[in-house]
Amino acid sequence: MDSVHKGILKKFEYLKGQLIIGKKEIKGQNSTDRLSPDSFVPEKHMLHDLIRGFYKPAGKPYLLSYQATESEDNYGKQIIWKNENKAEFIRIEMAPPNSPKDNRKKSDIDAARYNLINNIPIGILRKVKKGHNIILGLGKITSEREDGIFIIEPFSYNELKKENLKKLEEIIEELDEIEVINTSVFREVIQRQGQNRFKRTLLKRSNNCALCEIEEPFLIASHIKPWNKCTDAERLNSNNGLLLCPNHDMLFDRGYITFDEHGLIKISSKLPEIIKLKMGIKEDTTIFINLQMKEYMKWHSQYQFKK
Ligand SMILES: [Zn+2]
Repeated sequence: MDSVHKGILKKFEYLKGQLIIGKKEIKGQNSTDRLSPDSFVPEKHMLHDLIRGFYKPAGKPYLLSYQATESEDNYGKQIIWKNENKAEFIRIEMAPPNSPKDNRKKSDIDAARYNLINNIPIGILRKVKKGHNIILGLGKITSEREDGIFIIEPFSYNELKKENLKKLEEIIEELDEIEVINTSVFREVIQRQGQNRFKRTLLKRSNNCALCEIEEPFLIASHIKPWNKCTDAERLNSNNGLLLCPNHDMLFDRGYITFDEHGLIKISSKLPEIIKLKMGIKEDTTIFINLQMKEYMKWHSQYQFKK
């Protein structure tokens, strides 16, 4: 699907429920005009040509949009409503042109079948009266009946996105280590789910602050190499984590303390003696550090630690 096509479909979804009077916002002012590029569509475009029910853009194999009507002089009632006031339909019974002389009939039907087979949504307008159209959002052609009517059911990109996110969350739950995750779809999930998973993994190792006796639910899963400097895989790698109480997390995060390759604490000269004392920071403190943690800690000592 090209960016213009996809943009137009997104625009249909966005315009759902809106009444458009006149053709200016659907196809432009004159027959040669098009709508100007906007935040949805990068080029001049049309939502529908307003000539007939089916709109198949010239040279394209698919149906872009459909103008449904409910009047007897067209095809009768085509819209089965769920809630008419909210522009929500249960299904639309899309009738192809019925005149045998109509020379675009075949290409219209072919286009509808193309959408059906390739699972491509279409935009839906409802003509309420001459020059008055309500945008019904998006639909998907789900079947072709024996009498030639195509059945359209509602479709929404937003719901698809929600469904995908749910699936991805489940996948992430199941994975133990995630090597490379670098798509924008994953990103949203990672930020929400990743932090929880990261902490749960750390809690399997220990139930208290690495430096003191404070326990859950007062612990923070701190990243050794900071979150905003990490790749997605590093963000989820539990070897890049330390469980700390809020005070010790703050000192570590701001670089007032770090640890050497043996896990021995290094205290910044910028940390006031009195705070050191009050926060229980002692020169001989050591924490457990494994081989992989060592690499992250090296980064922390070099770039985060206030020497
Ligand atoms: Zn602590």
